[in-house]
Amino acid sequence: MNYNSPLRQVKGVGEKTAEQMHAAGLKTVSDLIEFLPRTYQDYSSADYIQNLKPGKVTIRATVESISTRYVRRNMRITTAVLVDDTGEKIKAVWFNQPFRERQVKAGVDYYFSGEFGLKYRQYQLSNPSCEAVRNLTISTDKIIPVYSLRSGLKPSTTKKIISNLKPYIKMAPEILPKEVIDKAGIIDRSTALTELHFPTNRDNLTKALERMAFEELYVLILAARLNRKQINQLAGYEMPFQKQQIIDFVNQLPFKLTDAQRRSAWEVLMDMEKPSPMNRLLQGDVGSGKTVVATLVALQAALSGYQIAFMVPTEVLANQHLKTVNNLLANSGYQAELLTGSVKGARRRELLARLADGKCPIVIGTHALFQESVEFKKLGLVIIDEQHRFGVKQRQSLQMKSMDHRAPHLLSMTATPIPRSLQLTVFGDLDVSTIEQLPKGRQKVITKIVMPNQRKQLMSQIQAELDKGRQVYFVTKLIEESDTSEKTSAESLFKKISQELSNHKVGLLHGKLPAETKDSVMRKFQAGEYDVLVATTVIEVGVDVPNASVMVIENADQFGLAQLHQLRGRVGRGQYESFCYLIQTDSKQPTRRLREIEKSNDGFYLAEIDLELRGAGEIYGTAQHGELNLSVANLADTKMIKRASDMAQQTIRYVMDNSDYLSKYPRLSDIINKYQKLTTLN
Ligand code: ADP
Ligand code: MG
Repeated sequence: MNYNSPLRQVKGVGEKTAEQMHAAGLKTVSDLIEFLPRTYQDYSSADYIQNLKPGKVTIRATVESISTRYVRRNMRITTAVLVDDTGEKIKAVWFNQPFRERQVKAGVDYYFSGEFGLKYRQYQLSNPSCEAVRNLTISTDKIIPVYSLRSGLKPSTTKKIISNLKPYIKMAPEILPKEVIDKAGIIDRSTALTELHFPTNRDNLTKALERMAFEELYVLILAARLNRKQINQLAGYEMPFQKQQIIDFVNQLPFKLTDAQRRSAWEVLMDMEKPSPMNRLLQGDVGSGKTVVATLVALQAALSGYQIAFMVPTEVLANQHLKTVNNLLANSGYQAELLTGSVKGARRRELLARLADGKCPIVIGTHALFQESVEFKKLGLVIIDEQHRFGVKQRQSLQMKSMDHRAPHLLSMTATPIPRSLQLTVFGDLDVSTIEQLPKGRQKVITKIVMPNQRKQLMSQIQAELDKGRQVYFVTKLIEESDTSEKTSAESLFKKISQELSNHKVGLLHGKLPAETKDSVMRKFQAGEYDVLVATTVIEVGVDVPNASVMVIENADQFGLAQLHQLRGRVGRGQYESFCYLIQTDSKQPTRRLREIEKSNDGFYLAEIDLELRGAGEIYGTAQHGELNLSVANLADTKMIKRASDMAQQTIRYVMDNSDYLSKYPRLSDIINKYQKLTTLN
């Protein structure tokens, strides 16, 4: 047996376990060895109960008693009384974990690790994990790796089998160049992997985590930078600046472009003049005016004789953009056409033919643009709005629709700014333009957290706004997926609001409605035929109704920071003072997220906070990278990013001196290729 043997050959792996592992994507010994613990329970630093401070704590204590009771349907509470060596006692409480009563025995010593804090006027330990002390002394250590549950593969099974693999971990090959390891001062790969699965102490574990974090970031950064070099070498389409027509276009706009819009547009136009394809992200806070910039650059491509595909995430938005773009282009001699799922039959066939003939210069649409039946004669520019909504594969398939072997220019746009650290890593192959300024006269949206018992008061404020002629959004999300569907939660809110505001017209918009209905609801709200719109997050992106001045978000604590900011951006788009009310689900303390969003209107600041709050893992803006999972590295760790980035830069220099440099490191090359497939658009 060796490092690459199938797992079936490993001691303790029967047919069933092998199947489960296969389903979890683990096929070989090396796969399992690279399957790192999700986290660690550190019992090496147990505190006495009397010294505990609120937060995550670990204690060593004997169980005095344990019992479970039903509070209401679906809610069982298991409570244990714990006593430590000093005789001090504390209650441990688990919600809906009745198995704890079987696992935890009275009279036995355990380490408990969990959240310590005040609940119902009493200090308690909430949902602690526990490990019998006698189990730990056998393995001599107190830092326990915790594996995640994957496709039915139990963490305990993973753990058992990995312990049979210990000797093979030592065979894990190095993947980084030796000079990188030496210069970066990190430990070698097999030592790190051994420590990660069998931690000896905190210091060593820290070094091992550091090594793997460095590796992940180094490879990611290197791949992104190599990508950029390759994109620069690709052939694209040169589109010379159509100076006079662009100036005419800018002059006939109903407003004056902001300096930031001008600069961003200029950066895009300069990219489009180059022979290599543009790969640029235009980021600007909600309401900063990205659409007009996109229209301007679309005009530039059309004037140069190319076709433009402008893609947006929802039908509602596609319809809105069509109207906006065509208004802006009214005097240009060009008009955009719409291609969504609801464009069917003869109309669709006719449009597809015109696209294939090159007779339709600008098409605005949804995912429908990705379908194979859609062919372009000379697609020169792809614009993707709210790009974090799209998967990389879809972007690739659109890009492949170019003629010959050249790649069209790509402009993606987002209102969810990418924190600096991500710009350097995951998005290192992108050029970024930022509209950091809102058009003049925009007012800050006044944001307030609303407790459930303040609802009545809120409704009278809303009445007042409606009486002034303003319009109002109510947005809801399902509280629990199993609880109710998106449709029913929107419908029940709709009923409630229709009663509470019975003297006003209320519209309902949710994802399950047919596209035509969605469109007509949105149109009616836009036209002022509805005063109030009850909606799910389908309105999250881009919807523009300047007369709407109030956004009410129900169960606001269920939303992510970026989403809340996007939703808030639906108001404050006209000249009216605007409000965003965040209704808490219960009367607990507001979450940090809600407090931050209440405090700040700055999307860039909020993006940094979001990164800090989430740390590693699912960072917004990276969703499109799908399989690209950082398991150890923390993208908020700027120091580590700097270290990895410096080393990657050095490696790039070696590659420039000697283009064969990476072929000496086949494993590293393999991983880089894989990453490039995920991040590149070309
Ligand atoms: P976003 O960047 O969120 O996509 P939009 O492009 O929808 O923003 O623009 C928001 C609103 O601001 C639109 O109504 C648009 O007409 C208006 N707008 C854009 N640029 C300017 C400007 N320079 N001055 C005044 N209003 C502008
Ligand atoms: Mg927009």
